[in-house]
Amino acid sequence: MAARKSRGPYAKSAAVRDPRADPLGALRGMLAVVLDNAPHPGPLELHCVMSGEAASARHPAHGYYADRYRELRRFFALAFTARTGASTSSPRTGPDGTIPAPETVRCGDTPRRERVHSPLVHQRSAMTTPTRPRLAVSSCLLGAPVRYNGAHSRDRFLTGQLSRHVDWVPVCPEMEIGLGAPRPTMRLHTDGRIRTKEGTDHTDAMTALADHRIPDLDTLDGYVFKARSPSCGLGKLPRYASGPDERADGQPVDRDGRGVFAARVRAALPDLPLEEDGRLNDPVLREHFVERVFAHARLREFFAGDWRPRDLIDFHGRHKMQLLAHDPEGYRATGRIVARAGDRSPLDIEADYRRAFNAALAVRAGRGRHTNALQHILGFLADHLDPTRRHDVLTAIESYRNGTAPLSVPIALLRHHAEGERIDYVANQTYLAPFPEDLVLRHHL
Ligand code: SF4
Repeated sequence: MAARKSRGPYAKSAAVRDPRADPLGALRGMLAVVLDNAPHPGPLELHCVMSGEAASARHPAHGYYADRYRELRRFFALAFTARTGASTSSPRTGPDGTIPAPETVRCGDTPRRERVHSPLVHQRSAMTTPTRPRLAVSSCLLGAPVRYNGAHSRDRFLTGQLSRHVDWVPVCPEMEIGLGAPRPTMRLHTDGRIRTKEGTDHTDAMTALADHRIPDLDTLDGYVFKARSPSCGLGKLPRYASGPDERADGQPVDRDGRGVFAARVRAALPDLPLEEDGRLNDPVLREHFVERVFAHARLREFFAGDWRPRDLIDFHGRHKMQLLAHDPEGYRATGRIVARAGDRSPLDIEADYRRAFNAALAVRAGRGRHTNALQHILGFLADHLDPTRRHDVLTAIESYRNGTAPLSVPIALLRHHAEGERIDYVANQTYLAPFPEDLVLRHHL
């Protein structure tokens, strides 16, 4: 199938044009996006089907589609309101600028009033719950039948436990460049190209798609890729010869490949937590990834607000033990940035803190560093505990250090004492509860 052409200038401008400042231009841009998509019905059909299925609040992509349609309604409400010169607080729009759900539909030639049951409207209360991490994910891992053979690769952890606490943004690069399912399999080559066995080259379409998608992905908190895919795999993929002089028996030349789409995302978004489904079966890697994702979401939410230097001091204070457990040098580096928060521009502080914070948490915390953080926390509590309780905590930390108790044991004891003694500084440490407890990720560390 032919590679998808790059989008025209309007398509790009629609996403960034403020509908209040230039309503006609914004609407024209949106129309250009529609026209641009028209020759590629495959991905559109896929999104229609998935968004229909996602009407259920229990569907893993529900939050993504709900946000998407709410933003669209808001966009059109602002554009039309600005175009007619009315205020956004007009009775025709809701307080957040959205258009209320239509109550009138036209049936045949006769207009009549009917209640339109829009799931997006009735589920709005569910969308106003506290911010959840938003993660991109290879669509096939959520159960979409988009693999080369028309099957899916539904992942139980992602669609089960984790789905209760995050919102998914499904991405299938091969469907989005216009390939259907089933489709011919593709292979990576040593020249960095991705081709079918028959030689059809999809590299340019894939990289153009990645470049188009990356600005949106930058606002997310992580990405789970499907392993071993020449588009989505993060590493260790077989690479095949680019010419007969390399290898002529049809076997891979090496296993150093990285999926074309995944490689582009990784290079453009170095701070974004990325992981593959297979690696998430490892309890240590799973816990680390989920911890980074939730920390990333808290930081995103924090900087999205109207923050002051004292707020950053507070945010940093709650993350100190978590940073210390991962990377003592990163802990000190973030501390230095916060100490100068009053002297520098907020944009510089935000950029530096983001980079240092995410880099520190990207370092995996081993048993030794966890033990160090636990002892630090005990230090804050020691004066409030009698010798017996202090001894209990020390024993739990030692049991964790020598591998006879999981991390959850000393963590539970420390949290119990911090809350019981009302030592807020300790009780509020994110290290003691970095993600929802029912994920039970620290019972295996
Ligand atoms: S691995 Fe990636 S490209 Fe392949 S089916 Fe899954 S989402 Fe689509």
